[in-house]
Formats: sequence, C-alpha cells, structure tokens
Amino acid sequence: MSDKRETLGFQTEVRQLLQLMIHSLYSNKEIFLRELISNASDAADKLRFESLASPDLLGSDTELGIRIEIDKEKHQLSIIDNGIGMSRDELVDNLGTIAKSGTAEFLQQMTGDKQHDARLIGQFGVGFYSAFIVADKVTVESLRAGSDPADAVRWESEGQGEFTIEPMESNVRGTRVTLHLKEDEGEFAEGFRIEALIRKYSDHIGFPVSVTDVADEEAETKVVNSATALWTRSRNDLSDDEYREFYKHLSHDFSDPLTWSHNKVEGKREYTSLLYIPAAAPFDMWNREAPRGLKLYVQRVFIMDDAEQFLPLYLRFVKGVVDSSDLPLNVSRELLQQNPDLTAMRGALTRRVLDMLKKLSGGDEYAAFWSEFGQVLKEGLVEDHANKEKLAKLLRFATTQNADDAQDQSLDDYLQRAADDQDKIYYILAENYSTAVASPHLEQLRSKGVEVLLLTDRIDAWLAESLVEYEGKALVDVARAALDLPEGEEDKPQDDLNKEHEPLLQKVGEVLSARVESVNVSRRLVDSPACVVAGEQDLNPQVRRMLEASGQEIPESKPILEINVQHPLVARLSDEPDDGRFDALSNIVLDHALLAEGSQLENPAEYVQRMNQYLLNTGNGA
Ligand code: ADP
Repeated sequence: MSDKRETLGFQTEVRQLLQLMIHSLYSNKEIFLRELISNASDAADKLRFESLASPDLLGSDTELGIRIEIDKEKHQLSIIDNGIGMSRDELVDNLGTIAKSGTAEFLQQMTGDKQHDARLIGQFGVGFYSAFIVADKVTVESLRAGSDPADAVRWESEGQGEFTIEPMESNVRGTRVTLHLKEDEGEFAEGFRIEALIRKYSDHIGFPVSVTDVADEEAETKVVNSATALWTRSRNDLSDDEYREFYKHLSHDFSDPLTWSHNKVEGKREYTSLLYIPAAAPFDMWNREAPRGLKLYVQRVFIMDDAEQFLPLYLRFVKGVVDSSDLPLNVSRELLQQNPDLTAMRGALTRRVLDMLKKLSGGDEYAAFWSEFGQVLKEGLVEDHANKEKLAKLLRFATTQNADDAQDQSLDDYLQRAADDQDKIYYILAENYSTAVASPHLEQLRSKGVEVLLLTDRIDAWLAESLVEYEGKALVDVARAALDLPEGEEDKPQDDLNKEHEPLLQKVGEVLSARVESVNVSRRLVDSPACVVAGEQDLNPQVRRMLEASGQEIPESKPILEINVQHPLVARLSDEPDDGRFDALSNIVLDHALLAEGSQLENPAEYVQRMNQYLLNTGNGA
C-alpha cells in the first residue's frame, strides 16, 4: 500500500491559518470538539439528503449517528460518523485548501496579538483545522457513500507544511477523524471530560452522539446528548446558553451572537425559523459572491446550506435555520425560486429580522451592531421599499449636535430636537467626518441652531435619495442651490439679494464663466467667503467623484458659486480696481470653495502659481 502513498503540500493559506489557529485559540482549545462534531453532523445531514433520491446509499446502515472513541492508552480521540464520507479528491480539496476568496488578504490582518487574532479567526470560522490545537497528528479515514470498499482513503498530517494521502480498504461508510493528542492534552482522552464537552457544546445536534472508552473493556457505549435538533424544541425549554451554542455550531463563529429570534409559524404555511444576528461581520461581507443565507430543512431533513432566497441581500449577515413543513423534499435552488410560498416566507422572515433589530435598537448593544452592519443595512433603504419606514427608524447618524463622529443619532432623535416649525431634515454628504463637519455649507444653519446630518458612507447619497422624506419631512441636501433655510425675519429672497449685488456677481461670473454655471449671493455662509453648490438637476459632487472613480463617464456640469457679501475677502474683490488681480482673486475664491468641500482642483499647479503671484502682488503693497 505504502507505495501508493502521496505527499502533498497545504495551500499557503492553510499553512498560515494552522499556525495562527494553534497560537490564538489555545486558551479555548476545547472548541475543536464542537467543530469536529459539527462537521460529522453536517456529513450525516448530507447523506440523509442524498439518500432521498438514492435510498441505496444507506444500505443496511440506516441509523445515522456520531460516535466518539477515546483511548487513554494510545492517547487518542476519534470522531466517527456514518455520513456522506469523502472521496480522495474531496479529501485533498476539503482538507488541503481553503476555497473562500479573500482568505489571503484576511490572514494579512493578523497581528500576533492573541485576542485580536482570535476574534478575527472567529469571524472567519474555525473548522476542521482546530483539531491541531490539541493534536500533533491527525488521521482521517473516509469512505464516500456509494463507493467501493477499495476506494476508501487515508489522509494524515502533522499540521506542518504537508499531508499524505493513500488508498485503503474499508467497508465502513463515513469518516473517522483520529486525533493523536499532544503530550499534555491527555484530558481529551478522559470519558467524563468528553461527555461534559458534548453536553455543553453538542447537546442540540439532531443525531445521537455516543462515547466509547476502548481502553476499558467493561465500559459500555452510551448516548450523551439529547439528539433533538434545537429549533424543534419549545422556546420555553431552551436556555440562552443553548441558543448560543447552537449558533456556534451553525456558523462556526467563535463569539456569541448579539441576539436571536425563534419562531414557529402555523396555519396555511408551516415552518420554524431560528435567526441570529452575529456580533461581528464576517471577513467577506463585502464580497457579493460570498455564500450567505439560511440553512434549509424540510420536515427536519437537511436540504441545503446557504439558501439565500429566504432573506434579501442587505440582510446577508443573518445566520440561521428555516425548517419548512410544506416545501417538497426534492426542492432545489431553482425550484425554490419559483415556489409561490417563498415570497410570503421571505417577507415574513425579513420582518422578523427587522423586528429583532428594532428590539435591539432600544439597548446598549445597538451601537456595536450599527458599527458592524450599519452600512449593509443602509442598502435596504435602496433595495426594499416595502420596509422603508422600519428601516428608516433603524438608521443612525453622526450629526452637527454630536461632539464626535459617532453614528448614534436616529431620525427620531433629530426630529425631537428640531424646532416645531422646521419642516425639513438637513443633511450634508462628504468624503469623511472632518470635511463634513467643517463644511462652509453648514455655517448659516449652525448659527441658527439647525441640526444637520453628516453623511460620509459611500452609500449615503443613494440612501438620501431613496429615503426622500421621514415622518412627512423632506430630506434636504445643504449643498444644493435652492436651499430652503428655516427663514428668519431678516432673510431676503434670493432674487432681491442678487439684484443688490448685481454688478459684482456679473463681473465674477464673466471671469469664471468657464468654471461655474452662475454666481449667487449666499444665504448659507457666515465665516467663509464662498462655497460651491450643485444645481437641482446636477449630481451631488460626492456621487460624481464616486462614479468617476469607478470609471463611469459623466456629463460635464459646472457648479454654482455662492459668495458671502459680508466677508472681507469679497469686499476686497468688490473694491479691486486692477483687472488682473480681480481675475486672480476670483479664481482663488473658487479654488478654495472647491477645496473646502473635498473636491480636487483640475489644475493644482496653476492654482499654486496664481496664489503665489497674488501673495507677492499684495505683499509688497502693489
Ligand atoms: P467548514 O466546515 O467550515 O466548511 P472545515 O475546515 O471544517 O470547514 O471542513 C472543510 C470541508 O471538509 C467541509 O466543508 C466538508 O465538506 C468536509 N468535511 C469535514 N469533515 C467532514 C466529515 N466528517 N465528513 C464529510 N466531510 C467532511
């Protein structure tokens, strides 16, 4: 046999992950058992599913279950399932490579700091490789269901750079994972310790998990867990700890979930759902191709992982199970899409998640949720018009009333503070918090005590456009030309103001005609000499920059320049007799207005030259 043995190298990412996992999860080493039992349970689930179409796969071995063998003398622990098993190629692929895209980038974020790294690995999902935390050698023997006994395979590795693979004979279907325990990990070959761990981590697995002590001839095999899938039990019988453990089994996440919701729906459509909100975003949340969705069961029989049809894309961070009594057992992804019940279920599950978030939003944990998932949830405003109101209540913003950039103010908070006669909700879009909060566009509003939402996420421009209004109050971009300020008695209409300063506006407009659409007297400035605003039909400059960055062609549109006639620099402009200097100063005022809103100058060198020249000219008293 051994001449058929091959030695293969792990993919680089696996090698790195192995090192990191052993190092950063050591203080939590016992979780390896949960991970391996989870895998065994998944394997049994998969076989039960495949046997629906091919009952022969089960043969005479129809009782699916998981057996743990401990051997104190040999210092070994084996996790044995009679599930689907793996072929040679599956073993090489599944246990030699990581298929998730973005893994290499993810691993680069590891710092060597145990706590930090443990958290990251939790987001990634621990799994089979956690066996190497306690074992210095792992042997996996497997026979794929339906395969010939001669096609069984043995995989073995010391968790360094490589593994071996060789054919073997076996007429036992499924997989046996044997851990050759490290010198000082003998506790994991102790019956009482293993039984306690199964009760703690794997009680809710839908298959019986039994323990056999092979070193003790007297000892009998006994089933340790309750072997009832957790979601089939009544809410009243379940403790928070049991829900948490089930989440970890389901998600391979290492941390506790933030919250969950467990419901049985009866009536026309019957199904049970158990939905969890994780505490941290998975590392590939922004990869649109990454697997997402719920684990689907039909009448307790596992059907598929990652059934994405049950929730909208913007809720892709939700983990959970849905177990339907009505869907056909042979349902496929394609059939799911066409199933008339699905739309209703999707609607109901979406509302469940939003209700769960609403509850969460009343407590301290919501800030953590928002910082992890707020940006994804915002996609909902754009995608899911039916739930706009519910989603709008869940939004959190930084505003001009905050001392810092924390996104912790709701629209209700905003309206509560607003004056009774304020009929609008003001917002500004900017690249980042410091640009937003220092923007000249806010000056007049600030001096009148009007609060402005500071929107700095990439998606915010679309968010504001989709939201349109909240509680009957229109959302208004403060960088748009026709800004309706809450009026004071002293405010004059725009046309009157422009008329009073017509000669100046005209002259500046001529000088800058290639660069601006028009020039207005500003009603929104207090301390700054000028700002630029967008016409009603034009793209917001923030959106324009984003579209340009993504390589899209955008029709030219020039901004409108607004000048603050109370400002000394504008007064100087007005009194400037020299045409050259008037020209230079007009351009500089515009350049500064563009810089202040975070735009880039088309020709920075020209600006610097103009500025230097102007400084020299005024500096020597000319
Ligand atoms: P994950 O379970 O998160 O996919 P793992 O590293 O734990 O990652 O396992 C990788 C893959 O190996 C699994 O997706 C599964 O296909 C396969 N696998 C692991 N353990 C078993 C088992 N006991 N029986 C069959 N397949 C298994």
